Amino acid sequence: MAASKNSFHFQEQVIWAKEEKADFILGETFYSLAEASLCLEAIKAYGDGLPAVINLAPTWKDHTVDDIPLEEACRKLEEAGAAVVGLNCSRGPKMTVPLLKRIREACKGPIAALPVPYRTDEKTVTFQSFKDLCTGRDAFPSNLSQFLCSIDEMKYFGNACDEIGVQYIGLCCGNTSDYFRLLCETCGKTTKASKYTTDMSKHYLNKDSGLNEYNTKVRKALLGL
Ligand SMILES: [Zn+2]
Repeated sequence: MAASKNSFHFQEQVIWAKEEKADFILGETFYSLAEASLCLEAIKAYGDGLPAVINLAPTWKDHTVDDIPLEEACRKLEEAGAAVVGLNCSRGPKMTVPLLKRIREACKGPIAALPVPYRTDEKTVTFQSFKDLCTGRDAFPSNLSQFLCSIDEMKYFGNACDEIGVQYIGLCCGNTSDYFRLLCETCGKTTKASKYTTDMSKHYLNKDSGLNEYNTKVRKALLGL
């Protein structure tokens, strides 16, 4: 299939990936269906049949910047030949999960989810819009650690992916190896680094591990009891 002239800026990247024996080709962080479609077109034209994974990046609205509901855009990409479709970037787990449910209903094949590991919510839907808690200045792009997800929020995301039926799971900007290990373990996988997972049940202030008299006193002092 000949690709359109507009998909030419993806052509070089697809050919490199193919020459280096990639298992699949990933195109992501697309805010518009139009651009995502051009990428898919190039993968189909120059990828020698390699599977295409195409991920859209949500914004504040639940549709692409060319005004297509995200689930519909994913369905169109799947129908156009993408092996996996889904979302990456922009929103954290809480604001991504509701979209994944809709995408799961709209698409037949595997779907992908790679949110950012930041606690975006209804008031701050995207991580690009966070304001520093002390100064009120833009926290994006390099002052975001104050908004990182908790361990429980990451477990919530892993469990939600299992329940919804998300096959391609990851994390986008802000990810760290320990988040990724936790996510894998939440989804029932053991990683090579799982041997380093901290066992906090032995912590000297863990009340369930049988505190001695002194540590009981210290714990109360720290908790203001
Ligand atoms: Zn990202």
